[in-house]
Amino acid sequence: MEYFLPEIMYIDDAAAVYSKTWEIVAKFPNVPVRRIHEKPEALTDLAYSTRRVDRGKKILYLTTQKGRFFKKCPGTKGLICCNYYVINFATNCHLDCSYCILQEYLENNPFITFFVNIEDLLAELDRVFSEDPQRVYRVGTGEFTDSLAMDEITEFSKIVVPFFASRANATLELKTKADTIEQFVNLDHRGHTSVAWSVNPPRIIASEEPKTATLDERLRAAALCQQAGYTIGFHFDPIILYPEWERDYHQVVERLFDVVKPQHISWISLGGFRYTPELKPMIRQRFPHSRILCGEFVPCADGKMRYLKPLRVQIYTSMLAKIKRYGQHIPVYLCMDSKQVWQRVYGWTPNCDQDLTHLFDRRLSL
Ligand code: SF4
Repeated sequence: MEYFLPEIMYIDDAAAVYSKTWEIVAKFPNVPVRRIHEKPEALTDLAYSTRRVDRGKKILYLTTQKGRFFKKCPGTKGLICCNYYVINFATNCHLDCSYCILQEYLENNPFITFFVNIEDLLAELDRVFSEDPQRVYRVGTGEFTDSLAMDEITEFSKIVVPFFASRANATLELKTKADTIEQFVNLDHRGHTSVAWSVNPPRIIASEEPKTATLDERLRAAALCQQAGYTIGFHFDPIILYPEWERDYHQVVERLFDVVKPQHISWISLGGFRYTPELKPMIRQRFPHSRILCGEFVPCADGKMRYLKPLRVQIYTSMLAKIKRYGQHIPVYLCMDSKQVWQRVYGWTPNCDQDLTHLFDRRLSL
């Protein structure tokens, strides 16, 4: 895995009063620091760059979150969502996978941004979780970044894992393609944190995710987290089609069950590769050797392009059958796909707020 080493750090006025800012700065004694008042100043530096996405991934911007950190995962119009909440503690990611939607979402805000006012985050979570103690909150941190890609720098996990351990009605999912677990693996998590790896066959990791941890490294980290009592999640997302996809993805299933016991798995998700029309030219331009755009795609209700429906059904049916050989009760769900596809794969369609929550809650130590 490639560790994050910024070329420059920007610190705005709001961030300068937080000790977290200076802890992070101290980790990079040789990286120049530039003090700015607010973000527009930093954006000016990129105004004439023809490669602002690439340039932005080399800049660490320390600032504060001025809005809310916590929100319900927006899901996608017309598709089944899984009743999930997200904490936006950072945006962007240096690991730079070819298919990453962030290169398009964050084109106008392309820095690696970390929000240092973590005290405000904890106060907000405390308020939300206390307001409705009967409700169970399943929370993730990987909507606009990878949960652990720069955790050895921010040590964010060291703060949130103990925080969730002390909350009766909330669980945290750290979702990643990294293998940096040393910061939190030995903490007292009390079963309230699940660590989840997005996985792909080694050849896809090598061609589309080359800066991330290898499959072996991810599974080694998963084994250590399992040993420390964490439940483990896996996300087959995005599943990418090529002639030998089925053999290769089935081999990944076999390898992960060589390492993790079925009873320690929190959940497994399946999601076929999808992209927005705006992302396509960026992939072509930034990753000219990528083959992920080969194949036939159709526009879906949310505006994203996906593999043809019969192909998606075939992918999910095949993966579900393979996974269920290791345990009928392992929760497996489809990420961002339609009711019709759910129906054809499972023979039933979940109700977002009931069936899926129930499916997950059985696996949580609450
Ligand atoms: S690891 Fe995740 S967030 Fe980071 S570049 Fe890859 S897909 Fe994007």
